[in-house]
Amino acid sequence: MSRTHSVIPIVPATRLSGIEASSNIQPRAVSGVFATWRWAMVWATQLWFYGMPWLNWHGRQAVLFDLEGRRFYIFGTVLFPQDLILLTGVLVFSALLLFAATALYGRVWCGFACPQTVYTEIFSWVEHRAEGDRLARMRLDDAPWSIQKFARRGTKHLAWVTIALLTGFSLVGWFTPVRALAASVPAVAFGPWEGFWILFYAAATYLHAGVLKEKICQHACPYGRFQGSMLDAASRVITYDVARGEPRGSRTRGSDARSIGQGDCVDCTLCVQVCPVGIDIRNGLQAECISCGLCIDACNGVMDKMKAPRGLISFRALSGIGERPAHRRGRVLAYGAGLALVGVGVMVAFLARPELRLNVIRDRSVMSRQLPDGGIENVYRLRVMNASLVPRRLDVHAFVEGIDGTRLLAEQSAVVVVEPAGTSNSVVSLRMDATNAQRYASLVAVPIRVEVIGSSGSSGDKATSASTFIAR
Ligand code: SF4
Ligand code: SF4
Repeated sequence: MSRTHSVIPIVPATRLSGIEASSNIQPRAVSGVFATWRWAMVWATQLWFYGMPWLNWHGRQAVLFDLEGRRFYIFGTVLFPQDLILLTGVLVFSALLLFAATALYGRVWCGFACPQTVYTEIFSWVEHRAEGDRLARMRLDDAPWSIQKFARRGTKHLAWVTIALLTGFSLVGWFTPVRALAASVPAVAFGPWEGFWILFYAAATYLHAGVLKEKICQHACPYGRFQGSMLDAASRVITYDVARGEPRGSRTRGSDARSIGQGDCVDCTLCVQVCPVGIDIRNGLQAECISCGLCIDACNGVMDKMKAPRGLISFRALSGIGERPAHRRGRVLAYGAGLALVGVGVMVAFLARPELRLNVIRDRSVMSRQLPDGGIENVYRLRVMNASLVPRRLDVHAFVEGIDGTRLLAEQSAVVVVEPAGTSNSVVSLRMDATNAQRYASLVAVPIRVEVIGSSGSSGDKATSASTFIAR
């Protein structure tokens, strides 16, 4: 096992001997505070993942990442490819949040919110229903093939495939209108790329959550490898209280462990049996530990039965009492400052994002044209983007940049109409009268400002862009 650098020791993974050492870990079901939190996260994340594509907002899908149309719809907001910097900011913010959470509370992301954890929890629940609890599953593993084994395994895999396909469908529903996609399913009339991604993501879900499970956390996840570098003695991690628990050994309920020269651990191994990655936390923090807290739930149940205080395994800072509070540590403050900076930056950039954008390019094929009255005409290509969900009808105006603001005349038809979340490309002629043409004739290129403006005339209903005018 590779080690990660840390100021706290991370020991190699240790498991029980015999059947527990089987490559197929069969965790035991457990109830308690952490198990409840894990299921709360499963519900919260899955309601969001499966439900969000079905939510409508002002008559259209509330959240749709339309890659083909190169538009992202997020409720009333439309994002163009030019806005991807916002997405970068959100990703940086998320990474900093993960680092801060790890520095404070260890690998809580892995234990409660990581998709690998969440789907493994769902698939394990199905497995539990189809094949029974831990011992029944272990017996089924060892049993020869029979009708009963075939039926139980078949039921489980059928349910897994169904969930995996539903997951693949829901993922694609974030990127293509989900109602149309659903309507195309019965006749298998969806497009090839949609079909590919539904099957690909379904296969990935089935493989990761059903077949590989904890092996992904143990061997494939890079975060588990470098988590140690983000921890220090004040980080809260899952900890077995060695001083209180050792020497371990069985004893009768309610007996005083100290009076018989023992610690509080009765060596029942329940903490190992419930562990989804199959490790023995009593041997110290291990890189495989995903901080799910299920061993705490199991051990607290045992301590209740033994009439001993809870907390033999707990979620706490290794430094114990007397150290500086975790939230005051330098690295946490640095992460906090980074979060505030990036968060404010993304928010300001989002709020300042214009709904109308104008790009003006002078037609290079016709430099300029002299009109019969002595005026000069230049031709421009206007590209207007409407990042809102309302149609826009915009008038085109143009001025010479500078103090006097000489006005250029746009041709009569210089009105641009842009659909909601649409882009309009048009060709517009701008004219300078004979007097001004003579006035600016000495300049190689006259700097101008082109403006498109809606009927309201408000700043949100207007866009400008700079260009040049050839006046000779
Ligand atoms: S040791 Fe405890 S917290 Fe860590 S993965 Fe196993 S059950 Fe979860
Ligand atoms: S559940 Fe508690 S008492 Fe049982 S083996 Fe684990 S640490 Fe010891």
